[in-house]
Amino acid sequence: MNSFLNNRQRTPKVLFPKSLEEDIYCGKLLGYSHPQTSIYNVVCTDEFLSPSIKNLIVIGQIINIDEDEKYFSYFINLDDNARTKQIINFVNKPVTEFGQILGVRKGNEIIYYTSEELMCESEPYELINDVFSRNTGILETSSMLNKTAIISGCGSVGSLVALELARTGVGNFLLIDNDVLSYHNICRHQCGVSDVGKTKVDAIEERILQINPTARVRKSATLIEEVSKEIFDEFLNKNSIIIGCADNREGDVYANKMSKLWKTPFLSIGFWERAFVGEIFYTLPNGMPCYQCFYDEIGIVLERPVNTKFYTNEKNLEKLNFEPGISVDINYVTTIAIKLAIDILNIGSENYIPKVIDHLDQFTLVCNTNDERIGGEQTKHFSYPLQIRKGVDVSYCNKCADIKSCVLLT
Ligand SMILES: [Zn+2]
Repeated sequence: MNSFLNNRQRTPKVLFPKSLEEDIYCGKLLGYSHPQTSIYNVVCTDEFLSPSIKNLIVIGQIINIDEDEKYFSYFINLDDNARTKQIINFVNKPVTEFGQILGVRKGNEIIYYTSEELMCESEPYELINDVFSRNTGILETSSMLNKTAIISGCGSVGSLVALELARTGVGNFLLIDNDVLSYHNICRHQCGVSDVGKTKVDAIEERILQINPTARVRKSATLIEEVSKEIFDEFLNKNSIIIGCADNREGDVYANKMSKLWKTPFLSIGFWERAFVGEIFYTLPNGMPCYQCFYDEIGIVLERPVNTKFYTNEKNLEKLNFEPGISVDINYVTTIAIKLAIDILNIGSENYIPKVIDHLDQFTLVCNTNDERIGGEQTKHFSYPLQIRKGVDVSYCNKCADIKSCVLLT
């Protein structure tokens, strides 16, 4: 591709983790290099390498010249060109043998050279501080890194939820989905062509680690019903939330059961025909009707059989001949639910100002359009496009009513 950048005028630059200076590290450098900008982006070393951070290559190496004091003081007093020549002589082999860049260390100081033996500018970065610097004042990064999101269903909805929560700083993820990414998923999924053929959980893990390489990601390429108790024990705690993003209500009923057992919040995101409307439901572990209560009630209250939703395992799927909505409509609804998830994760956090939870009901409907030609008769519930309105009051179902707290009945 053509570019207006003139790389001949650019001084090569090495971005590197500041910890490399302090750790007195010598050895291989892994990362990405960009010839068009002459920027070498060092991501990590051999010592810290997650195999799920994709396409990392060895871009160079750091060597130590500490042992030779007189050489170093001599280098420092030379001009750049002369110093480079001396370094190369000292090293006694071409820089290309070390990769695209060579870092020469003296104590905490590292000077980088390219394989063309040009001295580089260098810019240390601090991964967590720099990645999340723009969240400052709104979200407390150290607190968010302790949060956990369990995402049940990693399709169009779950992939957006996962990546947006990674951007807020959520540091732990349990991704659950038994499906493989296909070409027909791409127009609504956060992943792309290079991910087709991977499990959705693998594809999303890679994208999460591109936002925060220190995130802890556990994957289960199964149905949520097949995830073991041990895994839930590891991930479900007072800092976690389960988010039901599956394409069927049964998965959400099960996910909510798990959230009740482990006393964590649960949030569900679902859609009606062509995503003309989305549903957002949440329940907190301190005594609110659960998703089973909601499921029992919704069809009656909304004057519509629940099986006309596009949830794929519902009974009359074979009669449906529509595509269940485009990405921007799904994302509009999902984004509102993600805001709610962030508020829920920060309940009790000092200095956090909730954005939406005080203004949304337990069951919220979000409409993308109220045009009858898209949404059919059900558009009568909506006055204007993009309306966010209360769904129905959810009351305790028969099973849950006895105990009024909706804890799991076994
Ligand atoms: Zn209930």
